[in-house]
Amino acid sequence: MKTKTVKAYGTESAKTPLHPLDIQRRSLLPNDVEIDILYCGICHSDLHSIHNDWGGTTYPIVPGHEIVGRITKIGTEVTKFKVGNLAGVGCIVGSCGHCEHCHEGEEQYCDEGWTVVFNAPDKILGGQTYGGFSQAIVADANYVLKLPATIDLAASAPILCAGITVYSPLKHWNAGPGKKVGIVGIGGLGHMAIKIAKAMGAHVTVFTTSPAKMETAKELGADVAVLSTDAGQMATQSKFDLILDTVSARHDVNMYLNILKVDGSIVLVGLPNEPLEVGVFNVVNGRKSFSGSNIGGIAEAQEVIDFCAEHGITAQIELIRINQINEAFRRLEKNDVKYRFVIDMKSEGM
Ligand code: NAP
Ligand code: ZN
Repeated sequence: MKTKTVKAYGTESAKTPLHPLDIQRRSLLPNDVEIDILYCGICHSDLHSIHNDWGGTTYPIVPGHEIVGRITKIGTEVTKFKVGNLAGVGCIVGSCGHCEHCHEGEEQYCDEGWTVVFNAPDKILGGQTYGGFSQAIVADANYVLKLPATIDLAASAPILCAGITVYSPLKHWNAGPGKKVGIVGIGGLGHMAIKIAKAMGAHVTVFTTSPAKMETAKELGADVAVLSTDAGQMATQSKFDLILDTVSARHDVNMYLNILKVDGSIVLVGLPNEPLEVGVFNVVNGRKSFSGSNIGGIAEAQEVIDFCAEHGITAQIELIRINQINEAFRRLEKNDVKYRFVIDMKSEGM
């Protein structure tokens, strides 16, 4: 198959800084589109993957899965997009298309395994997939999202992962009027969860380990902000219907199980690289559920983009140049970002 060389930022090892390298993009298949990438968000999953935190990283790796840009070419059978349209690509770029989960629009639970936009076996070109820290991407239009023409493009990129990852469980567990929802961690995912849960009509309490984030939590829309390291503040909390845990590192989940109401659920979306301990009595007592959720399907990703447009929700971002990417990862590792880095892919160094 013919390919095209494009410039990207990636690395050959966990310890090597990201740097420019050349990758190949396939020629367009009939249902493919080519996107000129304008902005790409930086998610903590990119950092976990670069560090091989979960095992399974194949180097060289080109991360990036909050991709927004403009369509520059369409395949012969594409009807969903026209050249010049804005478009987004999140985590999913392929799935079997015929299992029960694909039929239900939950490609992230595809029986045959879905194709992640980066660091997954590339079923079409061979080798592996390369993500959005690159000039352009070619993807099947079925996995490409439509973006409203009036959208704040850079600040909307994080909806493609952070947004959908919190929207999907909030909806599945019925966050809405009359529901008491807790969000643990105010990072990229957590700050979007505050905004989205609030827009769904829930009462939102946020739990943070960072005193400096207490004030901004309210500005983001939280009804209550709790410093989770303060036992006195934690002791005043109770009867949550749902707690969404976005924490990226090992932490105590039992203190959150203990403040759920009877039949309440804690849902993990954060992916620490070490096991979490659950005290059995903390789930048995009160018939609590300890569960998890993985991103969201394509139809639901389109739904959250439209939901955010309707409710005026964007991410709070720090826009960086591509040549600041290693500094951004260092700061993300130190929990020093409010609340999402987004790379200007047309900046100096690309
Ligand atoms: P992030 O911006 O770094 O936010 C993580 C937040 O967790 C931090 O802002 C911090 O909030 C809190 N935190 C960090 N270390 C902590 C510790 N040791 N103890 C307690 N709290 C701590 O990361 P993100 O991009 O939002 O991603 C969060 C996690 O979700 C990552 O593990 C990522 O891989 C995962 N993820 C999962 C999915 C999925 O589909 N399930 C999708 C995307 C990302 P405070 O400062 O407020 O305490
Ligand atoms: Zn992500």
